[in-house]
Amino acid sequence: MKKVFFVLIVIVFLIELKASVTVEYKTRLASEIIKTEFVEGIEYFNVYELNKAFKAQIVEGVLDQRLNINIYDEQLIFLLESSYLSFHSELYNYTFPIIQKDEKYLIPVKFLEEILPLIIPDKISYTNNKIVATTPIDNSIRTIVLDPGHGGKDPGAVSFSKDNFEKDIVLIITRKLEKMLSDSLGVKILLTRDKDEFVSLQQRTQFANGNNANLFISIHCNAHYNKKIDGIEVYYLSTAKTDDARAVEALENKVVYEFEGGEEAVKKYDDLAFILADMAQSEHLEESYDLGMKLQNALVNSTNSYNRGVKQANFYVLRGAFMPAVLVELGFLSNKEEEKKLINSKYQDKLVRSMFEGIRDFKFKYDKMQ
Ligand SMILES: [Zn+2]
Repeated sequence: MKKVFFVLIVIVFLIELKASVTVEYKTRLASEIIKTEFVEGIEYFNVYELNKAFKAQIVEGVLDQRLNINIYDEQLIFLLESSYLSFHSELYNYTFPIIQKDEKYLIPVKFLEEILPLIIPDKISYTNNKIVATTPIDNSIRTIVLDPGHGGKDPGAVSFSKDNFEKDIVLIITRKLEKMLSDSLGVKILLTRDKDEFVSLQQRTQFANGNNANLFISIHCNAHYNKKIDGIEVYYLSTAKTDDARAVEALENKVVYEFEGGEEAVKKYDDLAFILADMAQSEHLEESYDLGMKLQNALVNSTNSYNRGVKQANFYVLRGAFMPAVLVELGFLSNKEEEKKLINSKYQDKLVRSMFEGIRDFKFKYDKMQ
């Protein structure tokens, strides 16, 4: 009995011992640890570790049952529910299929230790139980600016009950999102305001530009004179307008008239600066749209809220951001039911979790390497 126990301890110890794979880089002293885990005796690692170690881009194709991974500019296609990946039209077998656990994709470690060195030998080798890799160039998303709308003398939308202000709710939600992103994504998160203070729209994007942010996310709650209107929508910048978008745009831009110096201030925003800013944003239009879609889908799926879609509008706060930028409207405070939800901490957590997932997926898709 004692012997069996001893053997068990040794086995457990050995498993513990091999719960990671070390990656060393050719031109960098620091190394990276890829955490692994055992499921039914097989050692796996989370696909997102490839992003951490090699700046790989990961795109989940849920519909076509594929996982596309761009690593050192090479395209690897994993066929889900099989143990094969396709590379340069050849199939490679890593013995056990990819599994899904807690919404993560787990790949057998054999892929790291045998397949990867085999297919890109000039970048990756495996010796002495370590991976030695060419140092990837880090062009990844490192700094994200979160922008809780309004603040100070500008309350934003006033709720159905008249008891709650947009500025307070979005600050709470933004702080929660800040925590989740910095805890789990390893990126620098900056807030345009972290207390109840007035910040002009121009200061917000200047702050993001000045800090070389890679993403700008403005967080708001909506309002409508028709109290029945509800739902979630996400905006990215454009001069093209629909009537609905124009209404929300007017609401969010109102601050310029009311608190930033009226017509004159509007003119300042509207002049040459706008043309330049618009050009800067149009460079990022596709990425902004993609980020918008990811946020919108995640938010609507988790809350079952009415899907008002991803729209283009001409927001002052998005102008002048030299990076992908979106404005999220988390729900209508003017709607009795949505007010109740938006002030509920559990519901806020749900919104935060969804935004986190959208941002995470965007990051892993767009993180580039060379
Ligand atoms: Zn707002």
